[in-house]
Amino acid sequence: MLLLTGHYVGLVPELPEVETVRRQLVPLIVGTRITGCDAHPSSRFRDATLATGYRIHRINRRGKYLLIGLLPVPPADPIPTRELVIHLGMTGGVSVCSSPPNDPYLRACWSLEDGRYMAFRDIRRFGRLAVVATGEYSLLPTLHRLGPEPSDPSLDGAAFHSALSSSRRHVKTKLLSQRPIAGVGNIYADEALWRAGINPAARRVGRERATMLLDSIREVLGEALANNGTTLRDYRTPGGESGRNQDRLDCYGRGGQPCRSCGETLATRQLDQRTTTWCRSCQAR
Ligand SMILES: [Zn+2]
Repeated sequence: MLLLTGHYVGLVPELPEVETVRRQLVPLIVGTRITGCDAHPSSRFRDATLATGYRIHRINRRGKYLLIGLLPVPPADPIPTRELVIHLGMTGGVSVCSSPPNDPYLRACWSLEDGRYMAFRDIRRFGRLAVVATGEYSLLPTLHRLGPEPSDPSLDGAAFHSALSSSRRHVKTKLLSQRPIAGVGNIYADEALWRAGINPAARRVGRERATMLLDSIREVLGEALANNGTTLRDYRTPGGESGRNQDRLDCYGRGGQPCRSCGETLATRQLDQRTTTWCRSCQAR
């Protein structure tokens, strides 16, 4: 069984992890037809069955969402394409395997025409599966209002500053909302704010510092992607415990340890219900 998930270290997948899963899935399932599906009856998962009968023709990603493009078989004209939307939530993972997994946390299992299976498991059930008309996300509010991709060339310092200035919430909370930019979660928010020297609880960020923050976000996401995601590296086997990848992080999860820039002990607090680590010296308010 091939596992494509990162939940074994208890870290929540963010853009680099989801993009890594996407890249791993493409050669495994694009071109394959879905011939059946068993799904958990919860409203979060049951629509997975609506993908049955469609052929997988591409896999895209927006923010932390996987968008599996579905073509009807036989092709109709005009083609009513659909998308299987997968949000991994906190503990979700996708695997492609040769026999149906016997797994108490299995939430959906699609059978593929070649005899294999694609499985979605999710221990804590914060994940979400949906099948929608292509691009129709109004029933998925976070995806519907998702900010630009970090790779979007039209997202520059001015646009990012403007997006950050639209509310008085803490800057970290704004990042986690997915509105100013898509794909940043707790890990890379802490990392990028530390790198940019911005206090996570700041409510106003000037134009210059917003540009630095945008650059930092792009850097930390790019580096994590190059490493196949902080939470995903080394994960090809079930139970593949690994804390080594976390050594790559400068801030997230390092509360009580010395700042790698100034040596001050990194602080930790709850900020809008999210554990937050920062340096009181480098990220002074
Ligand atoms: Zn410091």
